[in-house]
Amino acid sequence: MTETTPPFTSDELAEGTIDTVVIGGGAAGLNGALILARSRRSVVVIDSGYPRNAPAEAVHGLLALDGTPPSEILRRGREHVRHYGGRIVLGEVVTAEPAAPSADGDLRFTITLADGRSITARRILVATGLTDVLPDVPGLAEHWGHSVVHCPYCHGWEVRDEPIGILATGPVSIAHAYLYRQLTEDLTYFTHGTELDEDNRARFAARGIRVIDTPVTEVVNGEEGALAGVRLADGQVVARRILAVLAQLQIRAQGLEGLHLPVQDLPNKGRSFASGTAGITDVPGVWVAGNATDLTAQVGASAAAGALAGADINRMLAIADTDAALHAAGPSPTPHV
Ligand SMILES: Cc1cc2nc3c(=O)[nH]c(=O)nc-3n(C[C@H](O)[C@H](O)[C@H](O)COP(=O)(O)OP(=O)(O)OC[C@H]3O[C@@H](n4cnc5c(N)ncnc54)[C@H](O)[C@@H]3O)c2cc1C
Repeated sequence: MTETTPPFTSDELAEGTIDTVVIGGGAAGLNGALILARSRRSVVVIDSGYPRNAPAEAVHGLLALDGTPPSEILRRGREHVRHYGGRIVLGEVVTAEPAAPSADGDLRFTITLADGRSITARRILVATGLTDVLPDVPGLAEHWGHSVVHCPYCHGWEVRDEPIGILATGPVSIAHAYLYRQLTEDLTYFTHGTELDEDNRARFAARGIRVIDTPVTEVVNGEEGALAGVRLADGQVVARRILAVLAQLQIRAQGLEGLHLPVQDLPNKGRSFASGTAGITDVPGVWVAGNATDLTAQVGASAAAGALAGADINRMLAIADTDAALHAAGPSPTPHV
């Protein structure tokens, strides 16, 4: 898959111990940082610059921002975080691990970037998102985010009434097909080696969805490289303008191994970091938000999760600050009798 890097200016990494490092500066990470910065917390967002929706021309289904390019939403988000004193650093986190606690017993983490710089933080918000792993069909990846799509709520309206093919990746593609049938009457379901039971074959037939069981061998391009269809194992080419594919969703966990975050299996979808309310994890001092813990979250839900996590981090830091103040004050005087 080709990834595009939206260029952005990088702030200096902060010195000393900061309140929170946010790893990943997409919708989730930036909104978490915004809440923290507005709470007068020192916060540094470290972002490697490859948000999941980078190939898409616009973000859809997001109230008040529908149709805005992903890069523009991120540009504004960074500006807002910086406005309140947050820093945004372009870089890739290669290690993140617990460090020795402070004298008053508060948590500490060391986060190291690929360029060798490192930073110490009291808390970490992981918002590294996920990678869509497409089926290995030649020619498919180059159209990802344009003529090869996944989410009917992100791209559905834009591909309405087109000849659409569902390239099945498992039983979960069956429900996907009914959603795309809502958008076009010209829908073909390529089982591509996956099972399609008799009941759903009958239901597909009733909705006019054509089923092809011969495996797909490659995506065929037409004029100016536009997707024109798929070639089947028997050589036949089936004309299609759009392919809808449910990719395997793989969280971006590289560099985070030292945090030992628990991971959960989600059948037919992938794996995600396990979290509780407001993104809290079983690892003290570490929160997760966005696609890293909720594989189906769109931009709005990811941003909301980041905001909740940011608020929860601030709440826990306020408790830790008070514990530290109590520690500094020393033992309370013996009460007079
Ligand atoms: C093609 C496509 C189109 C989409 N269209 C829409 C749409 O129209 N509407 C909608 O609501 N949703 C859409 N989505 C979903 C949307 O992309 C996600 O909901 C959203 O990106 C999740 O936000 P996030 O902050 O969790 O992750 P991301 O936006 O993926 O951000 C994660 C960030 O973390 C960084 N990162 C990862 N690892 C590290 C590391 N080790 N060190 C430093 N940084 C790191 C990445 O570079 C990235 O910038 C689309 C998805 C795809 C694939």
